[in-house]
Amino acid sequence: MKKNNLSSLIIATFLISFIGTNQTVYAQKIAKEINVQKTITKEVLTSILDKNKNLYTQGKVANYIPELGKMQSNKIAFSVVTENGKVLNVGDVNQKFTIQSISKIISLMVAVNEKGEKKIFDKMGYFGTDKPFNHFANLDLNGKPLNPLMNAGAILTTSLIDGEGDIPYQKILQMVRYITKNPTIEINNSVYNSEKETGHKNRGMFYIMKNTGLIVANNEDKLDNYFRQCSIEVTAEDLAKIGYFFANHCTRFDGDKKYYNKEISKLIESQMLTAGMYEFSGEYARTVGLPSKSGVGGGITVSVPNKIGIGVFSPALDSHGNSLAGYRMILDLVNQYNLGLFD
Ligand code: GLN
Repeated sequence: MKKNNLSSLIIATFLISFIGTNQTVYAQKIAKEINVQKTITKEVLTSILDKNKNLYTQGKVANYIPELGKMQSNKIAFSVVTENGKVLNVGDVNQKFTIQSISKIISLMVAVNEKGEKKIFDKMGYFGTDKPFNHFANLDLNGKPLNPLMNAGAILTTSLIDGEGDIPYQKILQMVRYITKNPTIEINNSVYNSEKETGHKNRGMFYIMKNTGLIVANNEDKLDNYFRQCSIEVTAEDLAKIGYFFANHCTRFDGDKKYYNKEISKLIESQMLTAGMYEFSGEYARTVGLPSKSGVGGGITVSVPNKIGIGVFSPALDSHGNSLAGYRMILDLVNQYNLGLFD
């Protein structure tokens, strides 16, 4: 039995004998809360990382965007922002990677802040999915994307942010910098050019939505903004801060409440829960049970509602396009501390 499980058991036993057996459930609840609040440490993160660090050999670094294939497959990092905003980082803490699809929760926030939820969701659904992230799902049926977290809906969401040229992208970048309090965050231009040159399937979705009138555009600037947002470089720590932000009603890890908004965080966390891990989302909800968003760069951001943020990085992906070791590290942490919504 792990040390922290043992100490919560001792606390629970003490509380049970003190309060009386008819209040056992209450005592267990208190013990569980003490456990969650007190014991996530760097040592725990290191032991989970060490346990899972060789799993990368079972996955595959994405190379359908050629530039992504250059990432060293054994890089790994694990970060948590605790309830009081403290940052814990282990592994390759300085390793940068592109945010990819995790940017979709930021662009959704920017678009909804600007236009209101109704205007965005008149054009797309709140559906979950059994399809991969780049599937044309629904575009050929009723023309509307399934949700804002698969590529079609995300391309449409970004196209709805006001501004000419790269202004919508700049708004997304500024929001990522704000949430992470990290003004050094920049685009990786090689990845951007690589996506732009090879992203013909995304281009196809863009033109279908132009055809149906969902996207109004005279050129590909709006599509380029989607490629740009995916090419923003972050670390696992940045992802943990993004997770913390949405977990806490859009409160930044340092307590800043400039964008405080419970409705936006409810919207985004619900989308993360139903579609954030693509066709794996249902099984992920069953095993992890937390709003999460993955990217093909190998990152996953996790929100533990009203509590903490988790960020992981390991570039070798499973067959759904989710970080393989990243998922297993999240699962271990969640199981060890009963962090899941349904625990
Ligand atoms: N830029 C990637 C793409 O559009 C994002 C996909 C992802 O991270 N799942 O294909």
